[in-house]
Amino acid sequence: MNKERKLIIAGNWKMNKTVAEALALVKNLKLEVEKVKEVDIVVCPPFAALESVSKEILESKNIRLGAQNVSENNFGAYTGEICIGMLKEFSVRYVILGHSERRQYQKESDALISKKAKAVLGASLKPIVCVGETLAEREGGLMEKVLETQVRGSLAGLTSEQMNETTVAYEPVWAIGTGKTATTQQAQDAHAFIRGILAKMFDENTARKVRIQYGGSVKPNNAHELMSQQDVDGALVGGAALEARSFADIIKNSI
Ligand code: PEP
Repeated sequence: MNKERKLIIAGNWKMNKTVAEALALVKNLKLEVEKVKEVDIVVCPPFAALESVSKEILESKNIRLGAQNVSENNFGAYTGEICIGMLKEFSVRYVILGHSERRQYQKESDALISKKAKAVLGASLKPIVCVGETLAEREGGLMEKVLETQVRGSLAGLTSEQMNETTVAYEPVWAIGTGKTATTQQAQDAHAFIRGILAKMFDENTARKVRIQYGGSVKPNNAHELMSQQDVDGALVGGAALEARSFADIIKNSI
């Protein structure tokens, strides 16, 4: 597939996989995607498995490590949190921020997500900033308003240079883990809309370079069509990333 931007496909394992299971998964994945050069592949295991997975992909040329969240603070009395310095010990390169599950269950706000994004970028890591509307918001005609608020709020205060290191993930909440995928047209429209906001916030050139992933029930059988859309530059994959073969098939079918 001839894409303007290099595809980035990340697997968000969420709160799944013991260390042994995580290792087995990443070992198999390594074999499956050995020859893939066209895609930046990222795996985001739970914190407890970061060290083992990190060692396993140390020599890998195409698989990078991501974390599912990080604190905006660098150290101190924040029980249960993890800081960027700790992630860096395991050679983490990417950090998912503002996933809809964190927005919903941990009540993460756009302002907090922007603080985290700045901290992540300040430490030379790359944030993957998630945005997306709920079904009620889409059906209420609020999709664009919600996306604009989230994009502007979550990326507030970043410079164009920082934006070049940032990935945006469009994840319609109604499509996450539900088996309902946005149609290719719905995905393309939302991605183009987000790129338009980025052009207004930053500039056309910056907006053109930013990779926007689609997330929400991406599977091997819909990856190609989604990725063929002009403004879809990769995928953030939940369920289908928990098995090496299906994640690898998504990657291979996207090329
Ligand atoms: C996600 O949680 O980021 C996600 C896209 O999940 P799924 O692929 O299972 O819909």
